[in-house]
Amino acid sequence: MQPITIEAIHLHPIGLELAEKLRTSYGAEPFKSAVIVELITSHGVIGWGECPTKMKPSYTYETMGTALHVLNEFFIPKLIGKTITTPTEIPVLLKAYRGHPMAKYAVEAAVWDALAKANDLPLAEAFALHLPEGNTPKGSALVGVSIGMQDTIEATLEIITKRLEQGYGRIKLKIEPGWDVELARRVRAVYPEIQLMLDANSAYRLHDSDHLRQLDQFNLLMLEQPLGADDIYEHSKLQPQLTTAICLDESIHTANDTRMAIELGACRIINLKPARVGGYTESLKIYQVCVQHQVPLWIGGLLETGIGRAANLAFASLPGVTLPCDISATDR
Ligand code: MG
Repeated sequence: MQPITIEAIHLHPIGLELAEKLRTSYGAEPFKSAVIVELITSHGVIGWGECPTKMKPSYTYETMGTALHVLNEFFIPKLIGKTITTPTEIPVLLKAYRGHPMAKYAVEAAVWDALAKANDLPLAEAFALHLPEGNTPKGSALVGVSIGMQDTIEATLEIITKRLEQGYGRIKLKIEPGWDVELARRVRAVYPEIQLMLDANSAYRLHDSDHLRQLDQFNLLMLEQPLGADDIYEHSKLQPQLTTAICLDESIHTANDTRMAIELGACRIINLKPARVGGYTESLKIYQVCVQHQVPLWIGGLLETGIGRAANLAFASLPGVTLPCDISATDR
């Protein structure tokens, strides 16, 4: 690849009105926030990245405030003037700094974009260059949609109907204790055949296993992150008690976490959010762990703008991403 030299990086904090509120077991977001990263090379190529942090530390500890702080004070000064041949150099340049994966992801994503553009390469093909042979992008991706908790099951059913009409191939519903078994039962009564999955965002504990076992009767594609964000071990105790496949989201930060979760039997499916794991370099490692272990993989979403979604869509077109991804239309 033709190298790039990073001349400037500008940050654009944004707030967008949400087309549809997403209420999860963490609460509801008032609006969509993000820090958009604009990276300019010495040849005037512009690469874009998105840091999908929220205003409050909810899904992760990072916020828009922490992202602006670490980007401005530490990450950007480290990168200005550097000549980069491959985006996988970025985690090495930033390795002295602990944590803050979303902020690291955002600058790395801007570098991937700039390098791909500077080399006239579709982003998906730039990703594939870092994988073993046989990982040619498919040119398309499977997508599903995520539906937050509504006031009533009737309202949820109305939204599901609308989304199916729009062509989404898989429906994901957010759940919490008290908004779970009856919801699944009523949805299955109306739609016995759709690809249906539930996402608990860590709302349960291991002693809820008898309750969670009731979900096994609904032929779910998966149950996402039922237990603690930091608890791969307890998921390994829960998975053997369920016939439904557990998918881990919040618990997976690295390729090592992925290997540990798979080998402990904590889950049978992995949700990869490139922003959660610090970038596409780590994402490519996680991808390879899943392919080696033949574990189904899909790309999750953090309500990204079109910038974050475009890059995730490129990644989702890799052949090892085998399940529908949370990449809904940009009008959402
Ligand atoms: Mg999730």
